[in-house]
Amino acid sequence: LTGRLQDAFSSLRKKGKVSEQDVQDAMRQVRLALLEADVNYKVVREFVNSVREKAIGEEVLESLNGGQQVVKIVYDELSELMGGEQAEVVTSYIPPTVYMMTGLQGAGKTTTAGKLANFLRKSKNMKPMLIAADIYRPAAIDQLQTIGEQLNIPVFSMGDQVSPVEIAKKGLEEAKAQNRDLVIIDTAGRLHIDEVLMTELKEIKTAVDPEEIFLVVDAMTGQDAVNVADSFNDQLDISSVILTKLDGDTRGGAALSIRKVTGKPIKFTGTGEKLDALEPFYPDRMANRILGMGDLLTLIERAQEEVDEKRAEELAQKMAENRYDFNDFIEQMDQMRNMGPLEDLLKMIPGVGNIPGMDEFEMDEKELDYMKAIVMSMTPAEREDPDLLNQSRRRRVAEGSARSLNEVNRLIKQFKQSREMMAGMSGGKMPKGLGQMFG
Ligand code: GDP
Ligand code: MG
Repeated sequence: LTGRLQDAFSSLRKKGKVSEQDVQDAMRQVRLALLEADVNYKVVREFVNSVREKAIGEEVLESLNGGQQVVKIVYDELSELMGGEQAEVVTSYIPPTVYMMTGLQGAGKTTTAGKLANFLRKSKNMKPMLIAADIYRPAAIDQLQTIGEQLNIPVFSMGDQVSPVEIAKKGLEEAKAQNRDLVIIDTAGRLHIDEVLMTELKEIKTAVDPEEIFLVVDAMTGQDAVNVADSFNDQLDISSVILTKLDGDTRGGAALSIRKVTGKPIKFTGTGEKLDALEPFYPDRMANRILGMGDLLTLIERAQEEVDEKRAEELAQKMAENRYDFNDFIEQMDQMRNMGPLEDLLKMIPGVGNIPGMDEFEMDEKELDYMKAIVMSMTPAEREDPDLLNQSRRRRVAEGSARSLNEVNRLIKQFKQSREMMAGMSGGKMPKGLGQMFG
């Protein structure tokens, strides 16, 4: 199916002018893709209708690149449906900021409480404290304590003989006394929604007046997740959603339906069992995931925006003739960096994100800065003609850039090698977009 959708999209993109029939065909594929991704059928129907209306608009049908516009409308509408922009967490002006984790049993509340504390400590420099207010599952308190130990974050608990409301209140006082500026309350869940649970959650809410009530939802539960989200929102007026277990091959259609049904933003996604496997939610990336094509389209679009086509052709020409120099090198490097962190770019390539160990892998951006520093220490003549760089010049460059002679030698050697390789390769044309980028 994914393949068919991809074909439909790529033929649309190439098409230039599109007919109403083309749009209808593409919409049929989109509809199937959404249903397969477990998006609620009502949401699908509404979505497809609204996109179809926009796509069949006169402007699109008459425009020369109508195909591309249709594809873009699908993406834009889909990410718009999921909130458009990435939504930040709410924090309190007067510390501590208080968050409540809610959701069904097994959704990932306890794990996510730890992940979130860890994430906000790192990204916002906050000083978190976790509160163990799930007194029903025997091991729940231990579980949170273990997480706290792993992360070196304090966990407040009062055992399982005190009411969760009382624990939450006392925990909050303790956090203030210890100057903690973030409190995350882990609460109990049930297998199904029930009144007792909801009443308890409401009482905690009233007692601590949280900045955020996160509903934690297991993305693998698909359609069912929507009903759960709907009733939690109804009863508790949650503030945001965290979608867990997106590390599997679930397409994440739940994201779309949940957002649509509750109107509440999804702020994070859980992508693994480890305590650093939490990511801010990006609607546009999720749109791609739901449509099942990796982020390749975004990547290509961004590449095209950034790269002046003519200049790219010139560069290709220079490569082919072995005239590529360090000035070109710097120019391309800057261009690539303008497109965003290298890591993100790499992850957008379908498949790369799934390579085992990829999340451990961090592109060292410093390395790029060092390379740039070295090139900047060369004279214009040396940049144009790297062959000028004899030993004494290399020593000067090393001193000027505060890098070691070894590094300078290595860069020049690698540069020359790849230049030769490119010259050898340039008989055939590289694929557009990617070729320009990595060329
Ligand atoms: P709770 O009952 O809502 O507190 O859920 P837990 O935090 O205890 O999580 C239930 C199970 O789901 C645990 O085994 C977690 O390790 C696992 N889990 C939670 N979040 C994720 C996630 O994003 N990905 C994966 N693969 N597992 C997760
Ligand atoms: Mg729990």
